[in-house]
Amino acid sequence: MITTDICIIGAGPVGLFAVFEAGLLKMRCHVIDALPQIGGQLSEIYPHKPIYDIPGYPAIQAQELIDKQMEQIAPFQPTFTLGERVEALEKQEDGSYVVKSNEGTSIYAQVIVIAAGLGSFEPRKPEVEGLTAFEGKGIYYMVKNPEQFRDRKVVIAGGGDSALDWTIFLSEIAEKVTLVHRSENFRGTPDSTEKVFELAKHGKINLLLAHQLSSVRGTGHLTDIIVTNKRQEDVSLKADALIPLFGLSPKLGPIATWGLAIHQSAINVNTVDYATNIERIYAIGDINTYPGKLKLILCGYHEAALMAQSAFKYVYPEQKLSFKYTTVNGVHAF
Ligand code: FAD
Repeated sequence: MITTDICIIGAGPVGLFAVFEAGLLKMRCHVIDALPQIGGQLSEIYPHKPIYDIPGYPAIQAQELIDKQMEQIAPFQPTFTLGERVEALEKQEDGSYVVKSNEGTSIYAQVIVIAAGLGSFEPRKPEVEGLTAFEGKGIYYMVKNPEQFRDRKVVIAGGGDSALDWTIFLSEIAEKVTLVHRSENFRGTPDSTEKVFELAKHGKINLLLAHQLSSVRGTGHLTDIIVTNKRQEDVSLKADALIPLFGLSPKLGPIATWGLAIHQSAINVNTVDYATNIERIYAIGDINTYPGKLKLILCGYHEAALMAQSAFKYVYPEQKLSFKYTTVNGVHAF
């Protein structure tokens, strides 16, 4: 069981800034995210896009902002659970909570902060016969640890940046990589596309364009993948792993069943402290809604600051909070 003061659900920019604001008030945070990496929408959807509306930065690339936020929170030593989706919430007798993930991780916390953005990013699954039977037994929708594919026969399916980038990366460590794409053209960046064609030309990967996944087979674990070409002919591929990368779509998921007041897939909060209708549970960033809400990073930062001031009373019920600036006469308050 992980024990912390605040459990933050979502490692997007707003969840990360909540770590900072909580840290200033000496509250420890554990952050959990369904994605295998930190950064929320910024790292997952638009890492190279410039952002122009972060105060103090005329322009900053999305991934760079996340990297800088990680630097900013490092002094507070937050802990992370990545690649696990929060499923359940159990209220304890003293008012605190235990949060449970789909992988069985339990986090005990005085306060829960939902910074879940658009929701948990769920993989778009292709319609392939037998697919669900091999999930976790040869079929993986995300690469959490590339080492698990070392010296394995891997088939990657998809035509976007994720499929291209993992093909390039895994070609170095897997025994064999086959990239299957239904079209003749990729949607990824020209640079990655060029690298994939180069690898295929030099026999480093097997490239099957204009092929579709058709079915998967095995006994207990995946062993064979059947793909179909344009002439509707089947091709059988020996494989230890299939990684379908057809994008992710966000879903509110189990959070919707916790008894929170929800309006159009967003959590209702008050604008005094961004508390929800359930005591000790706050919602900040894109996941919340209130009159005038703007789904912008800087609005989420403001919400994180007010949330932390309010959450203090649950973590330190004996203490009175007096507001301080982060720096006074050049000295850090932390
Ligand atoms: P997110 O970044 O969505 O992070 C939420 C995280 O929570 C995700 O990583 C998700 O996996 C995780 N999560 C959700 N549910 C669970 C669960 N049950 N268990 C575990 N983890 C969970 N905003 C700007 O201010 N300026 C811009 O220029 C700008 N440009 C944008 C461009 C694009 C293309 C897009 C799509 C958005 C843009 N935005 C911009 C909006 C901005 O990205 C969001 O406002 C911001 O990401 C919200 O941050 P967040 O931390 O609330 O949520």
